[in-house]
Amino acid sequence: MRERPAKEFGFDTRAIHAGQRPEPYTGARAVPIFQTTSYVFEDPDSAAAYFNLQEYGNTYSRIMNPTVAVFEERVANLERAAGGVAFASGLAAQAAALFTMLVPGDHIVSSAALYGGSITQLKHLQRKLGLEITFIDPDDLDLWRASLRPNTKLLYGETIGNPGGNVLDLEAVATIAHAHGAAFMVDSTFATPFLCRPIEWGADIVTHSATKFIGGHGTSIGGVAVEAGTFNWSNGRFPVVADPSPAYHGLAFHETFGVYGYLMKLRAESLRDLGAAMSPFNAFLFLLGLETLPLRMARHVENASEVAAWLERQDGVTNVRYPGLASSPYRALARKYLPHGAGSIFSFDLPGGRAAGRRFIESLDLWSHLANVGDAKSLVIHPASTTHRQLSDEELTAAGISAGTIRLSVGLESSPDLIEDLETGLRSVQQMRAEATA
Ligand SMILES: *Cc1c(COP(=O)(O)O)cnc(C)c1O
Repeated sequence: MRERPAKEFGFDTRAIHAGQRPEPYTGARAVPIFQTTSYVFEDPDSAAAYFNLQEYGNTYSRIMNPTVAVFEERVANLERAAGGVAFASGLAAQAAALFTMLVPGDHIVSSAALYGGSITQLKHLQRKLGLEITFIDPDDLDLWRASLRPNTKLLYGETIGNPGGNVLDLEAVATIAHAHGAAFMVDSTFATPFLCRPIEWGADIVTHSATKFIGGHGTSIGGVAVEAGTFNWSNGRFPVVADPSPAYHGLAFHETFGVYGYLMKLRAESLRDLGAAMSPFNAFLFLLGLETLPLRMARHVENASEVAAWLERQDGVTNVRYPGLASSPYRALARKYLPHGAGSIFSFDLPGGRAAGRRFIESLDLWSHLANVGDAKSLVIHPASTTHRQLSDEELTAAGISAGTIRLSVGLESSPDLIEDLETGLRSVQQMRAEATA
């Protein structure tokens, strides 16, 4: 583990204050929404200095905005990163983070147990950009090692895999990556910085879909990528980061900006060119979300633990894949990497495949059937017919699910109400089985 600074505020304090001082002109205590496209330059010289990246100042809100900047700094602070860049969505953050460091012919070793949209994105980028990607069982450390090639530039996985609940051995995978001169990037959406900070275990880049727990109320799409600032991009394997960039008048980002080299390139080139900027209003909502992140995550974990333990006791339910359960194969990894709890998104199986899954979801009232997670409201989905619909049966198995898998995102309601609703659903599935055999 990296050493912590000697004196610092606690996580809950930083979730409320990091990256912000009261606005100097008005004294506004809340973070103002700077709903502006652009900023008046003091004079032509300072304008030129901003565009040359010789001085850091606001130019245009596709690249930087003061409201968005507070959000970026706050997430970076909570994740113990050097800095961060916000994007219009989680997938935009991932695409830009990859775009910044990879060129055609580069190879990625990736966990196969990813958010369905991330698998689709990686496969699409593979075809379009000529990348090589090997998807592997993330639990098999020998496979991470054996999959390395001379052109492997990145190892990629999720802190808590979706929807199998695989807890990634972050420290071990980081060690494998760095011994090979490759970077290690982690999607930590399901853990949030409250439950786990992958940079403390050696990750170089951490991404979040802010759409989920960070916002917490299912109102806004957004994403963020933060970087530790410690990876040696000048190790000879990343000329695209280290060498003078033709996309920025010959600037050598790593040499010029050191710890901030990758982040500056992510912003000044990738965000500039891909253009998927976070809106100031969404940043404002995500900041409201972050203020209560510690409180909400503690309650999410409490509710999820109760629901998972209850489900495990029911007949007609198998494979409750909550890493916080004593029965989980990921129990030891969860203890190490997720000491405050294993989040609130997990899946279980209903024997009876698609028909049982459908009947169960139809019978629920309080749980909302929709394609999102990490909301104050409890959510349910049948991955095989929705989020993982683009995947073949083999890919479903590789992602650790089946046709009867149900995924829950346990919200903040009173847990007895949540359990009562699930009980109604299970009874309905039993009825269906009884009718079928009658
Ligand atoms: C939702 C999600 C994403 C994608 O984020 P968007 O904000 O929907 O683009 C990526 N990874 C995980 C784990 C997610 O849950």
